[in-house]
Amino acid sequence: MARFGRPRCPRKVSGIPAVDYFKPRGIPLVDLETVQLKVEELESIRLVDLEGLNHEEAAKRMNVSRKTLWRDLKSGRKKIAGALTEGKSIQIKGGNFVTTEKRIFICEDCNNEWEEPHGTGRPKKCPKCASENIRRKKKVM
Ligand SMILES: [Zn+2]
Repeated sequence: MARFGRPRCPRKVSGIPAVDYFKPRGIPLVDLETVQLKVEELESIRLVDLEGLNHEEAAKRMNVSRKTLWRDLKSGRKKIAGALTEGKSIQIKGGNFVTTEKRIFICEDCNNEWEEPHGTGRPKKCPKCASENIRRKKKVM
């Protein structure tokens, strides 16, 4: 594939969604096609469609040009529309982004708080007391 212009610069996103997989009910996995929605595509949709920012504001938030924002938005919307109408599952994964969000977990039993890096999945136990009674701390944005 031909490459045009400057290399893609990373988008700034406010966080990684807690749920990253959506699957149509009642369709066997072998018959299922999965669409990969990039994290920055979802972020552009979240900012524009959910928060109601205009393209310029959203581009500023993500630290990209309006053109890049528009491209992410368009391809993200197309993937979601395709998945919903054609019954595909959606996986939110990958892309080209940086996030400053920290994942902080709290143990309900010993009040231990700790940080987990992204991409490691949800921890099963508190590292201090091994309790499974843990929850993710709500992020402040
Ligand atoms: Zn604990």
